[in-house]
Amino acid sequence: NSPYRKPLIGTSWKMNKTNQEALAYLQRLQERLKDVSTSVFILPPFSALSETRRFLQESDSPLLFGSQNVHWDDAGAFTGEVSAPMLKEIGCQFVEINHQERRRWFSETNETANWKIHAVLRNNMSPIICLGEEKRETWDLTEAFLRYQLLQLLAGLEPAAAANIILAYEPLWAIGATEAASPAHVAQVHVLLRRLLTEKYGTTVAQAIPLLYGGSVNRQNAAGLSLLPEVDGLFVGRAALEPDGLADLVELA
Ligand code: PGA
Repeated sequence: NSPYRKPLIGTSWKMNKTNQEALAYLQRLQERLKDVSTSVFILPPFSALSETRRFLQESDSPLLFGSQNVHWDDAGAFTGEVSAPMLKEIGCQFVEINHQERRRWFSETNETANWKIHAVLRNNMSPIICLGEEKRETWDLTEAFLRYQLLQLLAGLEPAAAANIILAYEPLWAIGATEAASPAHVAQVHVLLRRLLTEKYGTTVAQAIPLLYGGSVNRQNAAGLSLLPEVDGLFVGRAALEPDGLADLVELA
């Protein structure tokens, strides 16, 4: 009962693309995806959000879009930050939270990520919540880490709000790496996440939450990963930095 068609495939451009480059990307993507019914989303940098919205509106595009970050307060003295009402006004449907690069370079923690998740939901957008272990460990340690992180991220979230989140399993060791996590590992983690969500929110809400996988998704592994019944979609970095890369993955998945 998720509003998104499976597979849900998206990319964050990270700190890439000027407005001009964003437009060129969107034009090409639009051409390539004319006949595709998959739900596809793009997370441009803040500076390209308005232009992205304008292009998608004018071309009557079904592509979805959102931002890569947000501040947890709705307004105030936070120099250099952007709030959820500002993003909502531009038309963002999604806000990415807790990516490993935010944690590493900008001191994002489970606690600040949790505040941001509340801000996004309060402003009627969907947080794409990244989570994942930092090192390859035994399954027991991985399970304990993920259980703890998920509960911290979702602290204070009522079931009605939780039904609007998206989770992206992105282990640090598979991001920007040469290989993605194995399908067996991804399946095992997604089963765990679905079980934890079910324990916390019940079956109906847990089933509504898309579980994406991200980390070195590419042309070689996309089909295998998205075929897994436990995986609702893919979240892609490098392999979707060019529009044909994303379009190829959408066709494969
Ligand atoms: P990658 O990035 O696909 O380049 O590994 C994934 C991510 O950061 O979400």
